[in-house]
Amino acid sequence: MQLEELNKKYSLLSPKDRIKELYKDFDKVLFTSSFGTTAAFLLHLFHSVKPEQQVYFLDTTYHFNETLDYKNKLTSLLNLKVIDIKPEEWKNKFTTEDKTWNSDPDLCCSINKVEPLDKIKPNFQVWVSGLMSSQNNYRGTLKVFEEKEGILKFYPLVDLKEQDAFDYIKMNNLPEHPLLKAGFSSVGCFHCTVAGKGRSGRWVNRSKTECGLHL
Ligand code: SF4
Repeated sequence: MQLEELNKKYSLLSPKDRIKELYKDFDKVLFTSSFGTTAAFLLHLFHSVKPEQQVYFLDTTYHFNETLDYKNKLTSLLNLKVIDIKPEEWKNKFTTEDKTWNSDPDLCCSINKVEPLDKIKPNFQVWVSGLMSSQNNYRGTLKVFEEKEGILKFYPLVDLKEQDAFDYIKMNNLPEHPLLKAGFSSVGCFHCTVAGKGRSGRWVNRSKTECGLHL
């Protein structure tokens, strides 16, 4: 099916129906989660449709302990099949010693996030992400599907707002990310995240707004 047809077919569906349809149209589905503040929403939706779906977690080695605890909690609650993917050890050691997140955050993200994921992407037909168009200007242009660097990307939550995710998490009695109460609306690596509304606490005082995974 062509991109235009896919978007036409999926745009009027609910997020859950989009996920159900996805498994009719594709069988090699890559699902990544950052186990951030809205992650439980998409994890729970996928779990309800396809409990055996593997969930890939990009372990940059710079996650907050609260995120790792949250990941463990959701994993055991939903019986998730989580697979950690890590950067190359020597490169990660380099970014740690060099503090590359200060001097060149794009390179740091490239080594610790983009490269490890690039290695597994060719094994899949479609890559799922919980991006929402309301989150920033770049994301504002997204549709349910887009094609990027040879892989189809699927955004089942594209037309929702973060508040919808928080409401869903509450309604379904799912745990919330422990840093949410501390004022972190969005959580990434501890080197590059402070408390803040929306994504305002990410890469503060820099022009960077995305880790590079989605650009
Ligand atoms: S978010 Fe920051 S610490 Fe994490 S990989 Fe990117 S630049 Fe490095």
